[in-house]
Amino acid sequence: ECIDCGVCEPECPPNAILPDTEKGLEKWLELNRSLSTTWPNITRKGEAPADAENFKDEKDKFEKYFSDKPAAR
Ligand code: SF4
Repeated sequence: ECIDCGVCEPECPPNAILPDTEKGLEKWLELNRSLSTTWPNITRKGEAPADAENFKDEKDKFEKYFSDKPAAR
């Protein structure tokens, strides 16, 4: 359960975690609000995909790859 401590923000390698008070994030806040009610909670750390580094700085990943179906673990 997130306690909003902010520790994860600087620890995320591709800077994908931002404070919800930052301007211009309305699209992401709404997506999070919607999918957090249906996607399962992640309770264990998984292995990063072997090709994760290849995608780290790629632009427009949401448009290219997003699916509203949660990944099977
Ligand atoms: S590290 Fe991030 S996800 Fe974890 S409790 Fe703090 S703000 Fe929430």
